Amino acid sequence: MTQSTVVMKFGGTSVADAERIKRAARRIVAARESGKRVVAVLSARGKTTDELIAMAQEVSEVPDPREMDMLLSTGERISCALCAMAINDLGHRAISLTGSQAGIVTDTSHTKARILDVRADRIREALAEDMIVLVAGFQGVSTSRDVTTLGRGGSDTTAVAVAAAIDAEVCEIYTDVAGVFSADPRIVPDARKLPQVSFEEMLEMAASGAKVLQLRSVEYARTHGVRIHCRSSFDSEPGTFVLREEDTMEHPLITAVTHSTEEARITLVGVPDRPGAAASIFAALAEANCNVDTIIQNEPLTEGRAAEVSFTIGTDDLRAALTALEPVCGELGITRIDTDREIGKVSIVGAGMRSHPGVAAKVFQTLAAEDVNIEMISTSPIKISCVIRADAVPRSVRALHAAFQLGEGGIEPEQGPR
Ligand code: ADP
Ligand code: ASP
Ligand code: MG
Repeated sequence: MTQSTVVMKFGGTSVADAERIKRAARRIVAARESGKRVVAVLSARGKTTDELIAMAQEVSEVPDPREMDMLLSTGERISCALCAMAINDLGHRAISLTGSQAGIVTDTSHTKARILDVRADRIREALAEDMIVLVAGFQGVSTSRDVTTLGRGGSDTTAVAVAAAIDAEVCEIYTDVAGVFSADPRIVPDARKLPQVSFEEMLEMAASGAKVLQLRSVEYARTHGVRIHCRSSFDSEPGTFVLREEDTMEHPLITAVTHSTEEARITLVGVPDRPGAAASIFAALAEANCNVDTIIQNEPLTEGRAAEVSFTIGTDDLRAALTALEPVCGELGITRIDTDREIGKVSIVGAGMRSHPGVAAKVFQTLAAEDVNIEMISTSPIKISCVIRADAVPRSVRALHAAFQLGEGGIEPEQGPR
């Protein structure tokens, strides 16, 4: 019988110091000794990636993206080499591989590359030789043979992509919380661990700020049918399984409250009210690879007058967005660009809201009772997001979590047909 293979991904906190690397090594070895073949994907230790970014900014105001990736990819390599040493000391054979050596091929968009292919021959060969394979997360090699990185949190996507390529039975994401919760447990102490969550809900959660799984890892897992088990690296309790919606057992009305304070708002004043204006603006942003979220256009009341367009964008993309907008603003005669970095976003996510009226009203009433002003709203069939002031985010998250009774001991069941 062929042995089953498991991918185990350890996040930054889980490999932050020597003791934790040894602990991860013991956990990897235990899985191997239980008869499984193991590929472990590691993140950079602790705050290493942040420190590397700060180092780049010390020498250059706008660091060259190619060189940035050379720099950032080192963090995960350190973790893998150290963990391989620790595993070897436990009497097992381990080999560490860079993203490139592991066959992770990406496009050429530096600092947020997308995985195009995983040519996992080298991983397979090492597994066949009975080795434990350690793959440096968050990185790959581009089609033009440069080192790339996959965006913040990208080791999750490495793990899922490797799991898909080698047909692993499960992709285990070991992190510093016990799984995916009904809200960030750092903000909501009574947040509930979700035993399961559907891909659809997890996608919305990841897209609206629950960084426990990187958005792309969830997209990749859904497309390639990878089973994700997100769990604690500090105990062996089961965590959260991400499943197809039809395979989930729980069907609450609302599953989670998420938040983000890592977005900014750009407002363009004096946008000509004519066909094609919005197309030019957003084409320029797409060209610069900037991901735009909530968009609002205020139509002028009198015909022929200028409109105002506002949208939110990740703070990481802000500089690139402003540079990309400059020429378009000139062409369209836009009179002003305002930037607001003090915005935050709270969202509620739940497949049950598809068939339930009144959820939006309850969100707005809850925020009103907290005296929180809603500045922008966007929705999907299973999500409602509100842009608010950044400093109002924690209390808004807690109020929404309480209003929808998401805490330990109470889930509000969905009533009626799904
Ligand atoms: P890692 O370094 O292991 O990749 P991350 O910091 O990327 O870990 O993600 C884990 C963190 O995600 C947790 O520490 C938690 O604060 C945060 N988080 C935000 N929302 C959620 C949520 N709904 N469930 C669990 N964790 C969440
Ligand atoms: N080290 C990278 C980051 O901090 C990637 C990851 O941890 O997943 O974003
Ligand atoms: Mg992460």
